[in-house]
Amino acid sequence: MTIDTVDGRERGRWSPRSAVAAWPVWQMPGRLLGSVVVVELTMVLLVTLGLIARPVLTDSELTYAVVLSVLGIVHTELARDVERVRWRITGNLHVDLTSVWIFAAVVVLPAGYAALVALLVHSYLWLRSARTRAPLHRQLFSTATITLSCLAASSVMTQVETVVGALPVRGVELIAIVVAILVFITVNSALVAGAIAVSTGGGTPGDLLGEWDENLLELAALSLGGLTGLVVLVNPWLVLLVLPPLLVLHRAVLVRHLQEAASIDGKTGLLNAAAWHTKAERALQRVVRGEGPRAVLVLDLDHFKVVNDTHGHLAGDQVLAAVADALRSEVRDRDLVGRFGGEEFVVLLAGLQGGCAADLEAVADRIRRRVAALRVELPTPDGPLTIAGLSVSVGVAVQPGAGGELRSLLQIADTALYAAKRAGRNAVRMGPAPADLPAPLDGEIPLPAVDAQ
Ligand code: GH3
Ligand code: MG
Ligand code: MG
Repeated sequence: MTIDTVDGRERGRWSPRSAVAAWPVWQMPGRLLGSVVVVELTMVLLVTLGLIARPVLTDSELTYAVVLSVLGIVHTELARDVERVRWRITGNLHVDLTSVWIFAAVVVLPAGYAALVALLVHSYLWLRSARTRAPLHRQLFSTATITLSCLAASSVMTQVETVVGALPVRGVELIAIVVAILVFITVNSALVAGAIAVSTGGGTPGDLLGEWDENLLELAALSLGGLTGLVVLVNPWLVLLVLPPLLVLHRAVLVRHLQEAASIDGKTGLLNAAAWHTKAERALQRVVRGEGPRAVLVLDLDHFKVVNDTHGHLAGDQVLAAVADALRSEVRDRDLVGRFGGEEFVVLLAGLQGGCAADLEAVADRIRRRVAALRVELPTPDGPLTIAGLSVSVGVAVQPGAGGELRSLLQIADTALYAAKRAGRNAVRMGPAPADLPAPLDGEIPLPAVDAQ
């Protein structure tokens, strides 16, 4: 057997056994794999029970199922380019708009068949738009969560229709659809958040539940799905009118993703300098009652050129990414972390309730110690390489009260950074309060740190 070790991976002649052994699913931690298998089996069981409970569709229901499945597929084809770009930009956490067709199926079909439409449309989307980016096991889990959400929404909707239908109230459909939407979102979010929590051992609500905008998009897609379902009941042909606004919505979503991508630094995933400036300026203008002072930190890796000269620029890039991760994990979600340029970073620390400048200095020092303790493991053709012994110098400017100007804070932090470098590096230095300094001249911008030694 011939084996080579290009990219550190063993490659031999193909055999069914080696192909199965190479599936990425085996790299999942055991606990996560167990939970995923449970979710998948539950899905298969409940879909089967749904189909047994209502095995035969009426002619009209069959028409609805065919119309919604075909339109789901047509939509996927027409929006394929947009969806591929969205995958490239957003990675895995990503709301797709197939929920429009899936939720319409919840409204007009028995639970088991609505689940079959979900399985078909969601799998087709993966096959055509995301196969190269999402491994099969991840897609199977995602399809299982959507299908289970669909089953839950469908059965709750039937119950609500029965209960509310017997009451002397108007708008039974509206009530049933709203409740079903909430159930769909809750079940889907709970399953996805559960899988993330099991695989990462926890996380903030933002990590577990995704971004606010994405959740709103899911809500919009489900609402449109509810309307689509009602339209199908009136006349299945009318549903063609849903396609044009849906395609326009899909494009509009892409614009938001592109805007977000334009504000991110590609090497580190942090905000780039321009985006950090814009967000930091906005944050400094906000006054939060009871909050202590805020601080701007300018950080510069010490002797970073040596890392590049010793290990090469690609290794240097990976060290920058590791430092960025360390920075992000040492601050809170509402603190702003950006890459200023090169091996320089900036952080805007939001104030602590009842906090003081010493607390901010403590955060800066914690970051310094974290970088000093960092060990970056890199795979190389000659075996794993560990880069350690890094250090960072930090200049801090504390905003005394509300309304401090970002430009002067950056100037103060930058000067303090020079002081930290002069003090021997691997140090934090606090700048004077902005009121003690002359105002910057118009058009003057803070310079990036240059070694003064
Ligand atoms: P000091 O302690 O004075 O800051 O020393 P230094 O070596 O970090 O500073 P210097 O400004 O001399 O060098 C900065 C280095 O950062 C040189 C440059 O090659 C490297 N650098 C800047 N941007 C990147 C990048 O995107 N990737 C990599 N790998 N290196 C970068
Ligand atoms: Mg440096
Ligand atoms: Mg520098």
